[in-house]
Amino acid sequence: MELNTQHIKDLYAIEQTRFEQTHQKSKAKWEAGRKNFLYGGPSHWMRRWVGGWPAYISKDSDNGYGVKLTDIDGNTYVDFCLGDSGGMYGHGHPKVVEAMVRQASIASTMMLPNEDAEWVGAELERRFGLPYWTFTTSATDANRACIRLARMVTGRKKVLVFSGCYHGTVEEAHVELNENGDVQMRNGIYHNDFPHAELSAVVEFNDIPALEAALRTGDVACVLAEPMMTNFGMIEPITGFHDALRQLTRETGTLLIIDETHTFSNGYGGYTAEHGLEPDFFVVGKSIAGGIPAAVFGATQSVAERIWQALPKVPPTVRQSAHAGFGGTLAGNALTVSVMKTVLSEVLTKENFAQMVALASELAQGVKDTIAAHGLPWHVMQVGARVEILFSPDAPRNAPDVRAGRNGDLDTLLHLYLLNRGVLITPFHNMMLMSPGTTSEDVKKHHTAFAQFAAEVTAK
Ligand code: PMP
Repeated sequence: MELNTQHIKDLYAIEQTRFEQTHQKSKAKWEAGRKNFLYGGPSHWMRRWVGGWPAYISKDSDNGYGVKLTDIDGNTYVDFCLGDSGGMYGHGHPKVVEAMVRQASIASTMMLPNEDAEWVGAELERRFGLPYWTFTTSATDANRACIRLARMVTGRKKVLVFSGCYHGTVEEAHVELNENGDVQMRNGIYHNDFPHAELSAVVEFNDIPALEAALRTGDVACVLAEPMMTNFGMIEPITGFHDALRQLTRETGTLLIIDETHTFSNGYGGYTAEHGLEPDFFVVGKSIAGGIPAAVFGATQSVAERIWQALPKVPPTVRQSAHAGFGGTLAGNALTVSVMKTVLSEVLTKENFAQMVALASELAQGVKDTIAAHGLPWHVMQVGARVEILFSPDAPRNAPDVRAGRNGDLDTLLHLYLLNRGVLITPFHNMMLMSPGTTSEDVKKHHTAFAQFAAEVTAK
């Protein structure tokens, strides 16, 4: 089924007018924000919501626990974006709120731990398998720390990433391969005079021969990878990819960092636990501390021993002990740790993940039914509690497949169309995420809006 491109543009114009009419107060706030914010809002990427400005969420609205939001124009939404995973615990969980208030009323940050740390450390090992953990204030920071440690213990300098990846603002990962297989900066990002040719290696995901060639050079300190790619369209590993990745990294003395900041949505122990991966370092961030900026990274016994050799555990009486070169004053503060305990023990539990995955299946099935009803050459992917719609008939194997299947106008229209019908999806891709507070009724709202979308785009 061929879509009429002019019709898509016409529909977009209608939706844009509708958005303007229903988001006037947000527009005024955004315009006022230009006075004091470099790009209009507290973070530069907030300008990237379709419609031209973001909906400002009302401070007075109280929708209870779940994924409902109300903006200052009175529009209500079901939130499947969930802060691009940061809100996967659901908004306003009473126990999370209670943990925040309880610890904040004692002290949020002190440079001293509180007694919840012991439980959290043990729980991280139970879930993800690695014994030694460190807290940071973001997943970016956690990735940077792992890279630093990997370089320190291997004495090598390169970091290998997969084309189309995103691991936060990690300089080494700002590269991708273009159509000719040449390395270039991703999304036109400024090179910052960073010596990418010297410090980064990049290959296509699922390309085992290219991975092997890059690792056999012997100058790669670590591979930094999501277990399946989530930031460039969802790309699943082909059968045998993870075995090859682990075998080749071991054979070449390269450390493997698995970044589960998004794929934690796979379930209780992330993709790693479900698929029996054996990373040297493990990173997870975003959702684990109830919206307080936080991430953790874990190291295996053997990697930890290499770290202690390079950076010995000296007693505090040795005043000139070496600085680790990573950290963050607020990292692992009592507020973070206590809220993390509540999120891990009461919210992102095995039982709740089961419910989230079931709802994701419900959402994916609704999308599949609509696609089939209209004979559309589209595709839906589900990994755990995460679902993505791709405007191509088949699952992509790598970044070029994703590029080939892209349809910018249709993408933008889908986002705006859903937004205008009270359904929020991640602004940078077509991804939808469930939380323990998401309900079947929320999913039905998506079903209805998506079915309407499919009917309208195929009407002419
Ligand atoms: N790793 C992955 C896989 C991510 O998707 C992201 C952010 N989208 C990050 C790391 C960085 O997270 P943060 O912005 O919280 O540092």
